[in-house]
Amino acid sequence: MGEARLTQVAQPALWPARTLPTALAIILALAALPTFIFVLLVLFGGLKPVFAVLAWGVFVLVACLLGLLLGRDIAAMASLLRALRANPEATPREPALFVPGMASIGGDAAYLIRAERQNRARLTERTAADHALLERLPDPLFRLDTEGVITWRNASALNAFGAETAALLRHPELRLALAQARKTMAPVRKSLALSVPVPRELDATVIPVGDPAYVLITDRTRERSIEKMRADFVANSSHELRTPLASLIGFIETLRGPAADDPEAQARFLGIMAEQAERMQRLIADLLSLSRIEIIEHQPPEDLLLLPPVLGRIVAGLEPILAHSGTRIDVNVPADLPKIPGDADQLTQVFSNLLDNAIKYGKRGGRIRLYAGPARLDTRFEPGGILVSVADDGPGIAREHIPRLTERFYRVDKGRSRAVGGTGLGLAIVKHVINRHRGRLVIDSVEGRGTTFTVWLPVRGG
Ligand code: ADP
Repeated sequence: MGEARLTQVAQPALWPARTLPTALAIILALAALPTFIFVLLVLFGGLKPVFAVLAWGVFVLVACLLGLLLGRDIAAMASLLRALRANPEATPREPALFVPGMASIGGDAAYLIRAERQNRARLTERTAADHALLERLPDPLFRLDTEGVITWRNASALNAFGAETAALLRHPELRLALAQARKTMAPVRKSLALSVPVPRELDATVIPVGDPAYVLITDRTRERSIEKMRADFVANSSHELRTPLASLIGFIETLRGPAADDPEAQARFLGIMAEQAERMQRLIADLLSLSRIEIIEHQPPEDLLLLPPVLGRIVAGLEPILAHSGTRIDVNVPADLPKIPGDADQLTQVFSNLLDNAIKYGKRGGRIRLYAGPARLDTRFEPGGILVSVADDGPGIAREHIPRLTERFYRVDKGRSRAVGGTGLGLAIVKHVINRHRGRLVIDSVEGRGTTFTVWLPVRGG
């Protein structure tokens, strides 16, 4: 496989370039001693000149023949080696050798060279594959020399750190890990935090490989912030539940003790207790909804749904509260909206929460506008979808609060939220349902003028 990619050396010539000088050198070497012996034998009368010349002639003839064949084979081998030196990537063609011993040496040499070439090709291929793998590794990877200077880094390393690489490599924990890994020649893992340009929590694994050391970075920022969010959420939920519970326990004690014979106080306290119990019930219901939505947030809904009847049912259900607060609601929802992939119960919860908030936090006796229509009319959204907006003419929300409104338990005014029966989870539920629907939520607010919550939902599921 690897061999096929190597260039072939041209077919060796039958009589390679240096055959003649090599052959001459061999003939001379072979004939020199016998000639000398023949000359001595003739000079000292050991052999008649005629026989000496005849025998010498035969000898020279054999020497010439042998010299020519050997010389030719040696020249062929030499030319093969020259060709290989000129082009180390070439696969040699086995030269045809005449002398039996030479032929076997030549065959072995050609075989060894071919085997070495194949190994080299395989190694090159494997190195290229290893390199491609390291290059495409999703985690940043650096190779450092003994001085701690980067000699290579993969694409993720460049993306993730770029100009901040120096700050990373200067980090005391990483330097410590490098020193330890070099000393023990074993991988060392350390956690480090970078504060610029954005706070990041990283795990660095230093792997010494001979002189250079590889540094693999795993970004734990998201994981850690999720862990922190979970811990905060549990703490917040128990805190939110503990307050009404403590108040209930307090009232029970009062009812049993000081207020045992005071029917007026009893009636008042029972009213407050019912309110607190309802608050706990709402909180538990919202917590359950939130966790149920989160479990299936990664699976977009598949059922197709018509929004206008859903919105109609919600508005009808709000009639008593609207009448009580004196708020008017203008509904502008065309009946011919296209169907969208949606979960009816979850979308009911979204628009109920938004309308409920508009009533709770809007102007008393004010006006709420519920609008639905195709998304192409608003350039801020992708055209292929439906927009539903809920606008009130209440006091609005200060700009700095807007990005945080969908966080769990985030309230602009805690006291007001409690007073109107809020749990602080309504908008978090809205956000997670919209996420599941692969939609978007945009909040616009002008202080003193009102707030608009706009939901974009795709017509085709994603
Ligand atoms: P809550 O249960 O407190 O209503 P939400 O998550 O529904 O919780 O809302 C979070 C906070 O956002 C509310 O406490 C309130 O301060 C603010 N908010 C929500 N909707 C509106 C609105 N239409 N006008 C003004 N403030 C709002």
